[in-house]
Amino acid sequence: MNNAASDLGAKAQIDFHCLDTDCDGIVKFNLADVAGRDFQAVCPKCHRTYVLDRELKEKLARMLKLVLAIREAEDILGDSNVSVNVAGGEVKIPYALLLTRLNTLITLDFGGSKVDFHLWIEPSSPETFR
Ligand SMILES: [Zn+2]
Repeated sequence: MNNAASDLGAKAQIDFHCLDTDCDGIVKFNLADVAGRDFQAVCPKCHRTYVLDRELKEKLARMLKLVLAIREAEDILGDSNVSVNVAGGEVKIPYALLLTRLNTLITLDFGGSKVDFHLWIEPSSPETFR
């Protein structure tokens, strides 16, 4: 793991519903941990283990890079808005809101089925986005 990834700490979390249909567990892991060679995720309820294949690991590694890039641009993004044209004008949504209030959902192929992965990102400092 490189320094940038470890700096990220627990701040980029992934979770998904256990694929066992009889289980309502939520499997959670840190995005930065996925790169580890022996990484596997474990369901806290039924203890089913999930080994991610190379392709999925690769996608999550790229997601981590994206998170790191966002992290690096936090001070710029803190001053940025996304503007949306609506009837009667324009609405500006601060990037900070997009990053902290919306849940990112990534649907990836996992062992032949489509699985929704939730991505939770926190800014590196609560001061960044006020
Ligand atoms: Zn389970």
